Amino acid sequence: MRLRILGTAAGGGLPQWNCACPGCARARAAGPRAWRTQECLAVSVSPDAWYLVNASPDDRAQILAAPGLAPPDGTRHTPLRGVLLTDGELDHTAGLLALREGAALDLYAPPAVLDALDGPFPLRTLLAPYGSARWHAVGSGPGEDALLLDGGRLRVTPVPVSDKRPRYASGTVAPGPWVVAYRFDDTATGGAAVYAPSLARWPDTLDAALAGADCLILDGTFWSEDEMGGARAMGHLPVDGPGGTLVRLRDHQDVRCLYTHLNNTNPLADPASPERTALVGTPVEVPSDGMEIEL
Ligand SMILES: [Zn+2]
Repeated sequence: MRLRILGTAAGGGLPQWNCACPGCARARAAGPRAWRTQECLAVSVSPDAWYLVNASPDDRAQILAAPGLAPPDGTRHTPLRGVLLTDGELDHTAGLLALREGAALDLYAPPAVLDALDGPFPLRTLLAPYGSARWHAVGSGPGEDALLLDGGRLRVTPVPVSDKRPRYASGTVAPGPWVVAYRFDDTATGGAAVYAPSLARWPDTLDAALAGADCLILDGTFWSEDEMGGARAMGHLPVDGPGGTLVRLRDHQDVRCLYTHLNNTNPLADPASPERTALVGTPVEVPSDGMEIEL
């Protein structure tokens, strides 16, 4: 299984276009090689079939930067087979508008998100005339069967995480889950990875999903509770502090852990910060955009 971490920033990216906070100012001064695009992952178990997890507003540039996602010479044929949505947030779904040039894609999301994309953010209606998107519901219950993709070699298990709904859907009443994580198993190599870029809480089901996993890519939006007026109020467990994800990771020391969805306030985005330096020698990393992992 190959994972390509296409983007590692929270909504707005780093630097954010309208911000000159210390994190954005540092990234702007360092130049484009230090920038982070908005969070997105690509997963594959064979060269001619890739799946995105989330569709960020930066996905066109992210796909163009990924050699494995290019169409074969002389063809108009993408190896992109589909997109798995963890939730309905704009920075995870708006990129679908940039993937409308006729490709036949399978699109997966929790039922509440599918409803929202037919309602307050009518993406499904908008996209219908442009291509042949096939929409599928996933993650409606803990006992739900896993998806078998790419001839059955890639097993994808949705893990319900929380009922945090996008701001545009705050008035809707659909039952959750609104946010899921995904576990990916390559049934040929035995490699397993868990992708959890939006964690409002750490459910027991996430501990279960990490059993035997090689790698976890998880929500690193905020370092501390006091960023942006409250990390938890924004729907993200902070990395540091009581109940933060670093504490929860102590139960999973054998799992390689990579933080993604970094907000521009998070000192982990700065390679020279003391918080980042303190991770050296631990199983916890902060990847750059474009990093690839083979499992
Ligand atoms: Zn900023």
